[in-house]
Amino acid sequence: MSKVIEDCIFCKIIAKEVPAEIVYEDDLMIAFKDINPQAKVHILLVPKVHIPNNLYLEGSHKPLIGHIILKANEIAKKLGIAETGFRLIVNNGTDAGQEVPHIHWHLLGGEPLGRLIC
Ligand code: IMP
Repeated sequence: MSKVIEDCIFCKIIAKEVPAEIVYEDDLMIAFKDINPQAKVHILLVPKVHIPNNLYLEGSHKPLIGHIILKANEIAKKLGIAETGFRLIVNNGTDAGQEVPHIHWHLLGGEPLGRLIC
């Protein structure tokens, strides 16, 4: 069981103290529906260990990150959005609009998402 960081909503979801619509879970990560979806399909992929954002990643996290990125493909296939395309986004810090300081990947799809500037 991962340590629950006080006031971290994602740690509370991981600890099942707060409900979520979970679409996938294993020892390393959890994936659940975003409460405020920005696309027809909007899933958050969250490591169980509390890492605030990309800046806090270390070499020891490499297998974890690879695991999550590959699971994104599996989840996209399971939810039927793999063939039509999807987007994976990580917001880091204030200027990127990160609201929850527990690293997570947004998996978005199920409809045309429009073009980003990058
Ligand atoms: P960020 O802006 O990249 O940090 O994204 C945080 C995301 O978490 C937002 O899209 C929120 O809608 C979502 N979120 C916040 N609280 C909850 C919750 O309790 N359940 C599911 N999603 C949440």
